[in-house]
Amino acid sequence: MASIEFVKVTKSFGESIVIKDLNLKIEHGKFTVLVGPSGCGKTTLLRMIAGLDPQTSGSVLIDGKDVTRIAPGQRGVAMVFQNYAIYPTMSVRENIEFGLKNNKVGKEERTHLVETISDTVGLRDYLDRKPSTLSGGQRQRVALARAMVKKPSVFLMDEPLSNLDAKLRVQMRIELIEMHKKLGATFVYVTHDQVEAMSMADTIVLMNKGKIQQEAPPDVIYRQPNNLFTAQFVGGPPMNVSDLGADGVKFGFRPESAILSVEPQGAHFTVRGTIATREMLGSETIYQVKSDHHTFMVKCTDDLFSVDQYVYLGVDDAKIYFFGADENRIDRN
Ligand code: ATP
Repeated sequence: MASIEFVKVTKSFGESIVIKDLNLKIEHGKFTVLVGPSGCGKTTLLRMIAGLDPQTSGSVLIDGKDVTRIAPGQRGVAMVFQNYAIYPTMSVRENIEFGLKNNKVGKEERTHLVETISDTVGLRDYLDRKPSTLSGGQRQRVALARAMVKKPSVFLMDEPLSNLDAKLRVQMRIELIEMHKKLGATFVYVTHDQVEAMSMADTIVLMNKGKIQQEAPPDVIYRQPNNLFTAQFVGGPPMNVSDLGADGVKFGFRPESAILSVEPQGAHFTVRGTIATREMLGSETIYQVKSDHHTFMVKCTDDLFSVDQYVYLGVDDAKIYFFGADENRIDRN
């Protein structure tokens, strides 16, 4: 296991500063997910840990040691990319063995390691197959096995599930959580997908424009967002946010926190509107409710209303968030 630390790290590409004075400590043995919109600097952070792109200034520490001058291969980290990086002409076994052969590991130990690791990732029966005969999920597992066989203390993963279909992604998410438990290694996982982040992370590091917006466990990110950006990045549909018309203060509530009814229910915040759209998703229905001045999204577990119907939308006081003109959340306690 290994911890990772960024100390006042700045990264520029030519004139453009992508990361500025960033401080971050990634705990050893934890599953940390770097999440944020496209271009916010997630991959850049990962590549700096791997040693593929050196920082412009500041230090990157692995296990407390400055690794600036340590070559990628010597850092004890393995990187898994979204495009698998597996060799199409080699069998699954040869792919997994490749790094070991390069490191001059003896045949007996190689065979033992390949078999143990193929068991871990569920590929034992596929060792003699070529990648072209495998499913997307199985190929992704070959890529993971290739990384695991070197027994790194840090796994760096850059959107490893993005090429998989929705069902397989869900399955692989569960497998990655299990693998993390089994290996006990430090996982640093990059994604732009908030659902992936929420479902897998011990700690989420939410970034925007090269800056960390919040660093916390998923439930804290969801329930106590630091600011408007975090509040609207997690949850689907995003938090409803409206101007209060006073000093730039805004209020917000999550679509699942609102209750719709035919008669007003006496909730702290109540507004009358009409159902503009209705999206039935099976276990839940998403309504768009339009009032005179606002449009709100509401997520219900039942499906009681139809388009054009008049409804009252109510939200309890405890479920309402306030944000200041600086977009930081106003603590109400
Ligand atoms: P995505 O989710 O789209 O992969 P990301 O958050 O991983 O995005 P990065 O790849 O880290 O973002 O890129 C951050 C910023 O740095 C972007 O504006 C990108 O254009 C810029 N950038 C990244 N690599 C280079 C490079 N080699 N040369 C110039 N600019 C770069």
